[in-house]
Amino acid sequence: MFFTVSLYVALVVFAVGLVYKVSTWFRYSLSAAAADIPAKRMLAAVKGIVRTVFSAKILTLLKVLVLEVLLQSRTLRESLLRWWMHMLIYGGFMLLLLMHALEKIVSVSLFSAYYATLNPFMFLRDFFGLMVLAGLALALYRRYFMKLPRLKTAVMDQYAIIILAVIMLSGFLLEGVKITSYSRYQEMVEAYADAGDEEELKALESLWVKEYGVVSPELKGPFADEVLAKGRELNESCISCHSRPQWAFLGYGVAKTFTPLAVGLDKAGLPALLWTIHFIACFIGLAYLPFSKMFHILTTPLSLLANAVMNRETSDPLNIATRQIMELDACMHCGSCTLRCSVGVVFEEIPNTNILPSEKVGALKALVSGKPLDERSLKLLQEGLLLCTNCLRCTGVCPAGINLQELWLDAREALLQKGMPEFLLLSPLSLYRGLMRGRLDEDRYAGPARLVADTIGSNFKEIDAQNQTFDPTALDKGLVKHLGGSALGSTFKYCFTCQTCTSACPVVHNYERPLEALGLVPHQIIHSAALGLSDLVYNAKMLWLCVGCYQCQQQCPQGVRVADVLYELKNRAFKKVNAMKPLV
Ligand code: SF4
Ligand code: SF4
Ligand code: SF4
Ligand code: SF4
Repeated sequence: MFFTVSLYVALVVFAVGLVYKVSTWFRYSLSAAAADIPAKRMLAAVKGIVRTVFSAKILTLLKVLVLEVLLQSRTLRESLLRWWMHMLIYGGFMLLLLMHALEKIVSVSLFSAYYATLNPFMFLRDFFGLMVLAGLALALYRRYFMKLPRLKTAVMDQYAIIILAVIMLSGFLLEGVKITSYSRYQEMVEAYADAGDEEELKALESLWVKEYGVVSPELKGPFADEVLAKGRELNESCISCHSRPQWAFLGYGVAKTFTPLAVGLDKAGLPALLWTIHFIACFIGLAYLPFSKMFHILTTPLSLLANAVMNRETSDPLNIATRQIMELDACMHCGSCTLRCSVGVVFEEIPNTNILPSEKVGALKALVSGKPLDERSLKLLQEGLLLCTNCLRCTGVCPAGINLQELWLDAREALLQKGMPEFLLLSPLSLYRGLMRGRLDEDRYAGPARLVADTIGSNFKEIDAQNQTFDPTALDKGLVKHLGGSALGSTFKYCFTCQTCTSACPVVHNYERPLEALGLVPHQIIHSAALGLSDLVYNAKMLWLCVGCYQCQQQCPQGVRVADVLYELKNRAFKKVNAMKPLV
């Protein structure tokens, strides 16, 4: 009764968890445009699936299913050791699940002669279990002994490994003590053996002690040949459902180890205790699956298949949004991306885990879930996202086929649209915004820069630089002091207005009449800042359209850190208008 109730509770939790997790794929989004319309997204997903299945793309899906899902060719390309680990855990676990855990449904219907204590099933069960144990040992070896750089083990990962290890170890211990268990032998005799006389029962028991590993409190070998022969004769009817326990080689090894203690352990009820632990661990594993790292068993194949047939150009944007959320669940935290990340080494100097792509996936999960993240967490995430060089290496090595680069770009945009100002992203002329050009409507594309210009404009006095003289008493001496106190900004003092920076600036070159379009050009910004003309500087569009290319700084003959001075100025302007107030 207890086990039936536990099983149903576990199944209900599993089903609720599964429905909840799948529903998040349609409810959450990195892109504001795809949010709040889960029903529409579900419909788009169904349409997309039907269209794909009834098109030539089905061949691509089949190829990916065989090569990437079943044979895990991506993992093999990455590391042979990891491939073995994955194949052993995944293959062994799935075969055990089908053959052993679901034996009443799968094994019994497939094999008419199936019996759990008969060969080859008994041998195979231990063999599949050994596969999982070997895979787990490799996983532990990789995590704790190989010391792969920057590979982190999350608490959730540890729970999943612990649950799996408890299931496997309790299973083998249970098998071992069942082999030696005298009480279990007696139950079997009572249930199946025809009640014979005392001598016959002793002969049968002697045979089971000698050949089947049972430890009897009364009978111990060596036994006379005629007793064993008699036992064999009586055992004829048992052979059809009991192979020799040696075939369960792991369980038999456990049985032999525990033989000296077997009678006491049997009396103390160890078989029942192990049985309880094994089943409860299985139920916990089942209930925990949708919430744990193991959920990737379901989502990674989906991510591989979806990425093989979807792309930004032809797929419905709603389906791209759904796929991205599913991809976050498909990450198995293997650390391949982190190991190959071009900027991963920065983590040694700046201990922000969001620099590492595998950790960033976790942070994105929190971001899309709508949980209120504090300002510091958002800033750390933004820093991690902005240090990324878009080198694509992480996407190339991800065994789950996750399009990580798209996630990073969309996440930058999501933070920007959420009101996280970032100078590199503000200018619609920047590389970062350019990468988003095709995905955004005009309003979102140019909106952040316009918004900043408006916000700054409403906080600082607008000055017509060409036709106005300046009141020397209204100069911002604080600005000059501020720049002078900064290691990079203080280089403004060396400027002799040669205009080289302006000649090198691609933003200036973008306009036919730059002064009209930009208010001030770079050398004028430096010069105006040196004079303390903060209103003029902050209102200059050039300051906000700067794409941070550092051309000016590279060309300056005086060593003025032009781009860095511009950053200092932007920072100061933001501080003045209480920049942490959401922009949108
Ligand atoms: S795209 Fe970004 S996160 Fe990915 S490997 Fe390159 S730098 Fe690292
Ligand atoms: S994103 Fe891909 S490569 Fe990176 S940890 Fe997740 S599964 Fe591994
Ligand atoms: S290149 Fe250097 S010295 Fe020349 S104007 Fe620009 S900042 Fe001044
Ligand atoms: S960094 Fe310098 S050259 Fe580049 S856009 Fe900004 S001002 Fe122009």
